[in-house]
Amino acid sequence: MVDMKVTKEKIQEVLAGYDKKNLRIATICSHTALQIFHGARLEGIKTIGICTEKRRKIYEAFPLGKPDEFLMVDDLRDIPADELAEKNAILVPHGSLVEYSGDRIYELEVPMLGNRNSLAWEKDRAKMFEWMKAAGLQVPATLSPDKIDRPCVVKLAGAKGGRGYKVVHSPEEFYEHFEGMNVTIQEYLIGVRVYPHYFYSPLSKDGYRASEGKIELIGIDRRFESNIDEAYRTEKAGLTFSPSFTVVGNELLVIRESLLEDVFEMGKSIVEAADRLFGGIPGPFCLETVVDENLQFFAFEVSARIVAGTNIYPQGSPYTAYIYGEPMSMGRRIAREIKLASKENKLAKILY
Ligand code: AMP
Repeated sequence: MVDMKVTKEKIQEVLAGYDKKNLRIATICSHTALQIFHGARLEGIKTIGICTEKRRKIYEAFPLGKPDEFLMVDDLRDIPADELAEKNAILVPHGSLVEYSGDRIYELEVPMLGNRNSLAWEKDRAKMFEWMKAAGLQVPATLSPDKIDRPCVVKLAGAKGGRGYKVVHSPEEFYEHFEGMNVTIQEYLIGVRVYPHYFYSPLSKDGYRASEGKIELIGIDRRFESNIDEAYRTEKAGLTFSPSFTVVGNELLVIRESLLEDVFEMGKSIVEAADRLFGGIPGPFCLETVVDENLQFFAFEVSARIVAGTNIYPQGSPYTAYIYGEPMSMGRRIAREIKLASKENKLAKILY
């Protein structure tokens, strides 16, 4: 695991110098930026979009989703932390930000929503499985090449969004494609993919209790992956193909109401295991699960940050409708938590 370069104390120091009446929310213009800016706008918080010239016009095309201010950079890997700190900014990490920044994320001397330690745990697949197992979640078996005795997904190290994954059925098939490569071999889970999006707030206890606060179920998605999710068309057209899992988009999912108990319990356990292992996960997180024909959940991934599946519901989801009497996206929920924590003088609890 990476040495944590910026200490929590240092971040608290930076935060102590902030003008709390003029807090801003900043992120890289990518991934879930539109809803992060849109949600902050609805909560009356000004935003900063770290952007390159090429993508600026995309964000300009959405007047309600663009940032109030663009901070232009040549390369999205270079987050200008000093400038952000001068502007009282809180950085919201999303998938692209985590990916582009790499280990530099641990050096940024600017307050970040959530717990930076969690990113190291989601990044390393072995650590991630340790976390999910510590939470008592059922997970797919991980196999060594010579033990492949059932269909398995082979995942390239660090691959994001399913690119380059392949299903293999035997050691021979594995060695044919992946000999000498750094990969993970996971039992192929058969069932329906269910990706719940949670928000953990340590600031409030009304609702579904977890750790010192509560978790909210903000939404659930499922993904469209190419080419497996349109396989029926390919087959109908009489073609044969080798399944691939590159994420292209997301769709909304509502699950049977009787499965909600499992969904909440998994979220609660993940939060409480995070407390024990690395000091907690305030803010958004997501699980990737497959529900089998016996209605059993198997988790194969946890993301300790906002996920792209939340982009489906900028005006709220079929679940937030029962929590909030107003449109509530994940982006807006983040802004609201920052507002609430600032008002109660508890920003230290939700930032690192
Ligand atoms: P991931 O990079 O882990 O998010 O995986 C990308 C996609 O590959 C997922 O959205 C699933 O559709 C598929 N996938 C990953 N792991 C498994 C598994 N163990 N069984 C079946 N499908 C999987």
